[in-house]
Amino acid sequence: MTEKLVASRIRKAYGQHQVLKGVSLAVHTNDVVVMIGPSGSGKSTFLRTLNGLETIDQGQILIDQQDIHAKSSNMNQIREKVGMVFQHFNLFPHLTVLDNITMAAIQTKHFTPQEAKDHAIHYLELVGLANKQDSYPAQLSGGQKQRVAIARALEMEPEMMLFDEPTSALDPEMVGDVLNVMHQLAQNGMTMLIVTHEMGFAEAVADKVLFFDEGYIQEQGTPQQIFKHPANPRTKAFLNKVI
Ligand code: ADP
Ligand code: MG
Repeated sequence: MTEKLVASRIRKAYGQHQVLKGVSLAVHTNDVVVMIGPSGSGKSTFLRTLNGLETIDQGQILIDQQDIHAKSSNMNQIREKVGMVFQHFNLFPHLTVLDNITMAAIQTKHFTPQEAKDHAIHYLELVGLANKQDSYPAQLSGGQKQRVAIARALEMEPEMMLFDEPTSALDPEMVGDVLNVMHQLAQNGMTMLIVTHEMGFAEAVADKVLFFDEGYIQEQGTPQQIFKHPANPRTKAFLNKVI
């Protein structure tokens, strides 16, 4: 199994507040890794370090064996390889769905507008929104916005995707559509690292589940191990609260 990403002993503080206290994780190609844990424990911060949106104080992040902080590394290339989907979609309100999806790809991947559009329509079909290319974000539901955000990430042809609570801001009836798209990506072999509170989804899709608390990965294992037989009392206490 090839290691797509290896994070070693990542430490990060905001001022006096040590948020990441030595986080190590390997994600193999085609793996779906789900990260659970309480609010404020550092999950988002950790995810953001992995594509260079957040600096680190100590440790090392290798993507395809390449140290992302090495002088020779090109952070823009790394961000193309590692797509990210956020809780709040981060679509541009003044751009149509199609332009939201194609803009970055035209700039950074040097697609012609027509190539970018063809790809965008393909990804819109994949997320079930082929008829929405000319809509503006304000005309879409939350679940549709998030599926556009996923299409936008796919347009960059990432080799790995990071999802930070992609369904937490959605009305309950929208959650399933977004999870279905993610499930399909997983089945197509996308390497994914997902922060979520959707335990049923995690159980169905994850190869590995991590329990994150207080700046550490406290426990990791198969969904079966973590959800049915957690070893760490903190994991047990957390699961008792959320399930
Ligand atoms: P989680 O995603 O697990 O809820 P976060 O990574 O968002 O946790 O936050 C971990 C801690 O770091 C929290 O206490 C949060 O307030 C703090 N934090 C996050 N981002 C910043 C920032 N940019 N500046 C200062 N503190 C931050
Ligand atoms: Mg978070």
